[in-house]
Amino acid sequence: MRYREIGKTGVSASIIGLGCEHLDNKPYEQVKETIDAALESDINLLDVFMPGKEVRENIAKALGSRRKDVLIQGHIGSTDINQQYDISRDLPLVKRYFEDLLRIFGRIDFGMMFFIDSEDDYKGVFETGFADYVLKLKENGDIGHIGFSSHNPQTAIRAINTGLPEMMLFSINPAFDMLPVGENIFDHIETGFGSNLFRGFDPKRTELYQLCEQKEIGITVMKTLGAGKLISPVHTPFAKPLTVQQCMHYALTRPAVSSVMLGCKTRAEMLDAVRYLDMSEEELDYAEVLGSLRNDFRGNCVYCSHCQPCPVDIDIATVTKYLDIARLDKDNVPPSIKSHYQGLNATGKDCIACGSCEERCPFGVEIILNMAEAEQLLGR
Ligand code: SF4
Ligand code: SF4
Repeated sequence: MRYREIGKTGVSASIIGLGCEHLDNKPYEQVKETIDAALESDINLLDVFMPGKEVRENIAKALGSRRKDVLIQGHIGSTDINQQYDISRDLPLVKRYFEDLLRIFGRIDFGMMFFIDSEDDYKGVFETGFADYVLKLKENGDIGHIGFSSHNPQTAIRAINTGLPEMMLFSINPAFDMLPVGENIFDHIETGFGSNLFRGFDPKRTELYQLCEQKEIGITVMKTLGAGKLISPVHTPFAKPLTVQQCMHYALTRPAVSSVMLGCKTRAEMLDAVRYLDMSEEELDYAEVLGSLRNDFRGNCVYCSHCQPCPVDIDIATVTKYLDIARLDKDNVPPSIKSHYQGLNATGKDCIACGSCEERCPFGVEIILNMAEAEQLLGR
């Protein structure tokens, strides 16, 4: 397994996590075999958003004495009144469900403010006693860190700018990244993605990733497979389906991302996801499939590393990620980004303009110019 720190929390999490959603309404034996497969693979991050008592207790029972070996993302505001998943900002109800989670699992590592997508969600969390309750949970040591979940880049940016969250669970896959900000992703989970929807990378999403990198908000990822649509030959918006592992690789190569949460419901699915770790760069390469859609994002780096190797060992995708953040506000480049850049083994100043990377880049990125600009904005 490989591990990454979740942004400023400094907590080290496995790059593959288990999203436990699909363990809901499954027999205990199935829950146990899936959890066992995750732990045998050295996965240490589980997302438990489900409000149901039975699934929560099944997961806790399956973990047993291994609870201390995993980090749990537990959600605050996830309820199931009338047997249906619901989002609540009603404090007595919110407290009842979250305190039940604390009773079952003990201290929750990441207390996630649940589902902040709309204006109402934002107000319900940040303009009521909800946020105060979450802060109190942290002060009391009931939660280790404050996070939130969202599917909407605009609202997520606002939530981060409050300064309260330390990390975020966000829906990321190449189709969502290209969906215009006004589109509701849930409509497309229902009806599918029409390829005419896409116009290259949505700038709001790019802004969100850059903000997360800048403010060290670690991202854990949900909807990595676009509810299965991206791996389906029938429903993919691309010329051909991506593999599960290519979707994982796409998410893991976005700025600020620490882990992808896979919604596995069997041992076999869990072990299949973990095959990611043994796959070659060629097998994980998503660039060709992405490029099949249209050329609207020509000139924009997708951080795919197709341009490597560089004769002077510049990690071009990483330099470009830092450059993209610096471009957000060229006069006020965050010192942390400069120091990350300057800490790289090779940087823009080492580029000898050989051009071999540009020949390999499928997206026509002007890498030589980018390396010079990176050095200008981020160099000593
Ligand atoms: S410069 Fe091109 S090949 Fe290199 S990471 Fe960016 S998009 Fe991929
Ligand atoms: S042009 Fe610069 S960045 Fe590209 S391969 Fe050559 S030295 Fe590396």
